Order: sequence, then structure tokens, then C-alpha cells
Amino acid sequence: MSNTIHLLPDHIANQIAAGEVIQRPASAVKELLENAVDAGATQIQLLVNDAGKALIQVIDNGKGMSPEDASIAFERHATSKIRQIEDLFRISTMGFRGEALASVAAVSQVELKTRRAEDELGCWVEVENSKVIRQEACTAAVGTSISMKNLFFNVPARRNFLKSNAAEMRHIMDEFIRVAMANPAIFFSLKSNGQEVYHLEAGSRKQRIVQILGNSYNAKLVTVSEETDYMNISGFIGKPDTARKTRGDQYFFVNNRFIKSAYLNHAVNAAFEGLIAKDSFPSYVLYIDLDPGQVDINVHPTKQEIKFEDEKIVYAFVQAAIKHALAQFSIAPSLDFSLNADIQGLDAVSKPFTSNQKDAAVSSSLYKAFTQKHQAHLIEPSAKSELKSWKSFFEPSGSASDLLGGDAGKEKQIFEESFTGNRLLNVPVVQQYLQVQQTYIIATTEKGFLLVHQQLAHERILYEKYSQAVHNKQAPTQKSLFPIPLELTVSDKVLLDELLPDLQLIGYQIEKDEQQEYLIQGTPADITTGNEKHAIEMLIEQFKHFSSDVKFSQREKLVRCMAKQQSIKSGTGMDEREMAKLVNDLFVCNTPNISPSGSPTFIEYKGNYLEQLFNK
Ligand code: ADP
Ligand code: MG
Repeated sequence: MSNTIHLLPDHIANQIAAGEVIQRPASAVKELLENAVDAGATQIQLLVNDAGKALIQVIDNGKGMSPEDASIAFERHATSKIRQIEDLFRISTMGFRGEALASVAAVSQVELKTRRAEDELGCWVEVENSKVIRQEACTAAVGTSISMKNLFFNVPARRNFLKSNAAEMRHIMDEFIRVAMANPAIFFSLKSNGQEVYHLEAGSRKQRIVQILGNSYNAKLVTVSEETDYMNISGFIGKPDTARKTRGDQYFFVNNRFIKSAYLNHAVNAAFEGLIAKDSFPSYVLYIDLDPGQVDINVHPTKQEIKFEDEKIVYAFVQAAIKHALAQFSIAPSLDFSLNADIQGLDAVSKPFTSNQKDAAVSSSLYKAFTQKHQAHLIEPSAKSELKSWKSFFEPSGSASDLLGGDAGKEKQIFEESFTGNRLLNVPVVQQYLQVQQTYIIATTEKGFLLVHQQLAHERILYEKYSQAVHNKQAPTQKSLFPIPLELTVSDKVLLDELLPDLQLIGYQIEKDEQQEYLIQGTPADITTGNEKHAIEMLIEQFKHFSSDVKFSQREKLVRCMAKQQSIKSGTGMDEREMAKLVNDLFVCNTPNISPSGSPTFIEYKGNYLEQLFNK
């Protein structure tokens, strides 16, 4: 037998690697927009058709490319942005790996038109399956226009994995917004199927934020601005009274790059401590600028997670800057502003970046990652350092099946096992109800008592009710006396478009007026009057931040969000009649014993068990 191990042909290897960079239309959008920013454009237009599945085109007025560069740009590891290893420690461009165009060319049909100011004629290039199939001179405006058609036309598995147009469009808008917020001095426009969704004139950071998040934000923002030798922080935070019950608009930019950081998010929350309710979240758009040598952008394939050389300092600065801003606007007592003395005294704060530190950087993991062969493929998210543990600490645990892992899983299994034996099939005959700590209900029965968790039990009831509504029968609607207008941002509107059919089944009646603004005409019966608008806004927020678990369909997520949102919360007083209804409703459920997220809804204490407890 001959050997079975062989090298993958290029076109396959390309597709595998491309998967890392281009996962969906939005990832291509991000890369193309960033290239336009790197090219020094002052105007950038994004055009998409069918949520990027049919076409993604980015037109910029940046510096353009020479014909030679235009033909080589699609090669893997072709980049003009770094030349030597030292450059890696001072990255000031968005891209630097030279992978994006190669990845794009591997999974779509690409056309490029580009011209530099110094060239009379521009250049036209057509690429398919990673090969330049046509190149010729042409007339062209200064700048670059890249269009990619039929994304994943040659990778059907990936194409089939794409979500609905509305869902993919939402991802595209997220990426667009992030790049646009990071670069307010650049004009941006986004057209979807020929219709302009965003038209963002160049302006200040504040103007850009208001353009994107809506006019109502103007009055809600407090300015943050601190400059030190080590780093600058500027941007805006929402006043404490605008904090929301769900993670709202939270953006961090480091050296004009959007990043996700649970760690820095914690710093912001810590600064708001005591000013907002424990279970609510502040909005913020914060721009951090510091020596590029102090950040490692190369720890994650999408460059959305970065590592600070000294994250403790950054944490302390962010927290202090926000406390200071809140104090200046007399929102918090100014005494609160203090920079931890330990940190103030650190060399890194008081002294500039030295050549010693630079030497240390050369021996870092970043250096190693880039000196290895095929470096791009070796950049592993696992090199994420401590950030990872922070993340898992602060991210809400997701679904029932998450709970099934580890110790919690074992407990649950024991719980379920002990439960199925004596599962209550009928509604128990309850003699008396007693509420404890406004959270639990004790319902005494002939044989003992039930300890019911009011919120979890109600979530189960609502979950089954809404599930039924979306799956077979329409839930009743209570008509609103007056239509209630919803003021939504563009991206929230797109999300609502997507959710509308299912919302209708649950009992919502929402329509568009002549100005294409949404009006609530009716709500599910359990939504209290006066709360209609808030309920829908909360729902949109919760839906957006539902863990991106692919296991759940959109419907399932919606039903789960609704059930959680409308449930009687812990801490709510209940009278006897309400408790009786809750317990009765619970026992007509198909699965009364477990909440939608997998926790027990009640525990039964029976006579003989109680006796055992007392060793009798
Ligand atoms: P990277 O951005 O990491 O360098 P890319 O694959 O995204 O890699 O792009 C490869 C090269 O093509 C860039 O380094 C740049 O020189 C050139 N390029 C790409 N897009 C543009 C553009 N819009 N304008 C000018 N040059 C561009
Ligand atoms: Mg790039």
C-alpha cells in the first residue's frame, strides 16, 4: 500500500484557512472596510445585495494601488503594511496579516478597480478561485472599488450555513457601525439592495455616535476625557439614569479598533457601582489610545480581542476616568475620583516606553507566532491569556445543556432522577399558600409541602404558553387604546422586521405607519398597560444579547426571552389568589418541574422525607 498522507492541494488549503477570516458576509465587510480605512480614504461606500450573499462592494477614495500591487494583493500573506518583524510591535493600521483579500478571493468572484492619483489609467482585475483571470488597464476614479459576488459559491457547505438575510444583515450593520464609529472623520454610507440604510457625514465622535445611536442619545451622554503620558481615554458614557436592564450599547475602541473586553467592561461597571441598579448596564462608547507597542492585536483571528501589555493599568485608568467624568457632571461625589496610588507610582505610568521593554517584546509569544512558517494559521484564540477566564466569569451561562456539564450537571441529574420517580402528574391539592422572601411559595399538601420558586415556575408557564402560540395557535391580543410609536435605531428596526411574524403569533400587533415607523397596536394579554413600549424595547435588547448559541432557532430564542421578560420576578409580593393561580398553571405544564433554562421550578417535601430529616 502506498502512503495515505498527502498534502492538500492549494485550493482546499485556501478554503480551510479562509474559514478563519471569512465566516459570513459580515466578516468580509469588516475586512474590506478596514482596507479602505487603511488606504486613507475620506469617503467609503458599502453596497450589499441579499445581505451580502449576492454582492458586497466597497468603494473608497483612498490611495489606490499600482497595477502590479493590484495583481499581487490577492496572494496569501501579501501585505504592504508590515515589512519586518519590528513593525509588528507598532501596528497602526487595521490590517497587517495580508490574508483578507486572499481569503475573499478564495470564496467569491472578485472584481477590483483601482487607480492611484499619480497614474493616468487605472487597473481592472478579475479573480476567481484565487486566480487572477483577467487584468487590464481602464479609466477609474482615484481610489479602489472591490466587489465580491456570490459569496461561498464554491463552498456550498458554508453557504448553506448562512442565516436568514435579516440575520446576516444585522451582522453586517454591526460591523459597519463599529468601523464607522471608530472613524468619524470619514464619510460612510451603506446601501442594501439599492436602498440607503446609513448616510453618515464626516464629523466629530459625538456627532457620529448620535448619528448611529439616535438623536435621543444627545442629552444622555456624559463626556469622558483623560490624557496621560501612558494613555488617553475619550468618549462618552450614558448618564446613570439611562442605564438599562439589558446590556445596551457598549463599545470600546483601542487605537481606533473595535474590541470586545469583558475585563474593561468590568472596569466601567465598577465605576458605576452604587449609581445604577445592580442588575442594569451602563451605555458607553469609549476610545482608548495608547502606544501600539503596549497592545498585542495578534491574539485572535478576527483581531477583536486584544491583549494589553499591562492590563491592570488600563483597567484602573478606565475606571478612574469614568468616575472622574461622573464627578465632573456632579453625578457622583468628586471624592470618589482617585487613581490607585500603587498604579500611579508604577514606572509604566511615569516613564516612556524604553528600548529594554522593546527587547522584552521581541521575546514575546507574538514574535514567535510571526516567525513560524505559515504564521497566519498558527494564530490561535487559545493564546488569549487571562482574558479568557475573565470572560467566562462575566458572561452569563447559557442554556440548559451548559448546566448539564460539570458539577452542576451532576446535581441536576440527581435532582431529575430523584424526581421522575414521584413526579406529580396531577395538580396537587393545596391547602395553604405562604410566600417566603417574596421569592418562594410554600404550598402545603396532604402529604407534605412544595417549595416553589415563583420566577422559575412562571418562566416555565410562559415558556410553554408562548411555545404553543408560535407553533400552532395564535395567542390572544389585547388591543392598545392608542397606537404606541416605537423609536428604534436602524439596526433595531431590521431586527424587529425579522421577529415580526413570530411576535404576531405571541400576541403582538405591530404595524408600520406611512413614515415606515413602527406602531404598537396590540400586545399579548399579560403585558400591563403603560409598559408596552418598554417591553418591546427590552425584548429587542435581550434578543440581541442572547448568547449566540446556534442550538436555538430564532423562534426558540424569542420565546425564551419573552418568558423571562414577562415572568413574575423574585422580590415581587404575591397574594394568595395569585399564588394559587401560579401553582395551578405550573402543574398543567408538560414539564412542570424544570425551568426553560434547566433549573428546578419546585421541590417537593413529603412526610416521610421530613421525618428522615429529623432522623426519625
Ligand atoms: P492587509 O490589510 O492585512 O495588508 P489584505 O489582504 O486586506 O491585507 O490587503 C492586501 C494589500 O492590498 C494591503 O496591504 C494593501 O496594500 C492592498 N489593499 C487592499 N485594499 C486596498 C484598498 N482599498 N486601497 C488600497 N490598497 C488596498
Ligand atoms: Mg486588510
